[in-house]
Amino acid sequence: MVECYIALGSNLQQPEEQLKQAILALNQLPKSRFVVASSLYGSAPMGPQDQPDYVNAVAKIETSLAPLTLLDQLQALEMAFGRVKSERWGARVLDLDLLLYGDQIIDHPRLKVPHVGIAQRAFVLLPLSEIVDELFIPKLGRFADLLLKIEKQTLWRLPDESNEVKRA
Ligand code: ADP
Ligand code: MG
Repeated sequence: MVECYIALGSNLQQPEEQLKQAILALNQLPKSRFVVASSLYGSAPMGPQDQPDYVNAVAKIETSLAPLTLLDQLQALEMAFGRVKSERWGARVLDLDLLLYGDQIIDHPRLKVPHVGIAQRAFVLLPLSEIVDELFIPKLGRFADLLLKIEKQTLWRLPDESNEVKRA
């Protein structure tokens, strides 16, 4: 089994509910074991500003799925949740990004791991900081060092009542 981290995001159709359901769906991935999810966070959109705020979280799983098979599963979930293709960084019902696949570096047309945005995004690094202690990120170095360097971005932890079912 390989330890993997997945970023979840939604800003349409009751994003909190979408994320809770998505976390439940990650519990059902084949050949995988769900480990933990972070709290839910709110964040201001990147890119186009004429869209609702996001809800974000990060989950950890262990899997024996190959990387592209895992990506297929994540993309199938995005579709099942009703995601439609839209502009880059545009509004979406569910976004599932594979942040890390063990300590592997993957450079495939469909899959870049570590995920390209990982080092710059507070809405990835802060939720991740809840669920990892030490982590070495291939190409990027120590997680703790990345955390120190993040730019100030608008991010807030959702209230406790939004975070009741974060652990399945
Ligand atoms: P974004 O998450 O940047 O808004 P999309 O979710 O629309 O972009 O993904 C666009 C493409 O990114 C997908 O078709 C997928 O093949 C590719 N991709 C590359 N690396 C990854 C990764 N680590 N996790 C998820 N998708 C990835
Ligand atoms: Mg994505």
